[in-house]
Amino acid sequence: MEIEEVIKWLEFDMDLMTLDYQTADRIDPESLKCRSEQEYNVYKALESAVKTLKKQIPERTVDRVRFYECPTCESDRIKYFDCYCRVCGQKLEW
Ligand SMILES: [Zn+2]
Repeated sequence: MEIEEVIKWLEFDMDLMTLDYQTADRIDPESLKCRSEQEYNVYKALESAVKTLKKQIPERTVDRVRFYECPTCESDRIKYFDCYCRVCGQKLEW
């Protein structure tokens, strides 16, 4: 399964967790904490997994005149042809 598809399914699960089935409204993820500590922790784990997986999708560096910039955290500590951002771990594409 491709990373994009895994992300889609994890986000789908997160959407279901934050859906109020009676009103069809979105629930603030922080309010899951009141309902169930375990449910809240699963939501936060899914959120963390999605964030980490998104960084595995290569992103083009932002080409400045004298340096390169990370497209995710905007760090200017990118050296030419680095595979990953040294600050946030974003996978880079050249
Ligand atoms: Zn970065």
